[in-house]
Amino acid sequence: MLLIAIIGVGGRIRRCDARCYDAHETECDCICAGVNHGVGLDQAIENTRRRGEAWIARARHRHPKARIVVNLEAATDALF
Ligand SMILES: [Zn+2]
Repeated sequence: MLLIAIIGVGGRIRRCDARCYDAHETECDCICAGVNHGVGLDQAIENTRRRGEAWIARARHRHPKARIVVNLEAATDALF
C-alpha cells in the first residue's frame, strides 16, 4: 500500500510503500528517511500519521513544485 509519495515536476516519483515497510534489507532511500523501513504496515501507518507532516514539509522545502500524495486509508482524516 502506498503511504506517501512525492511526484517531481519531471515525473520522478519517490514513495514509501511495501518495498520500504516490508523490507528485509538494510539499505533504504525513502522519503520516510528509514522510519518505516521493515516495520510492517500497521506500524508504518502509525509512523506516517505521527511524522508525515514533517516529511511533507521537508519535501516541500526541497521540491517546492512537487505534488505530494498521502494515503493512509481511513486514517487520513486525523492529520491530513
Ligand atoms: Zn519509507
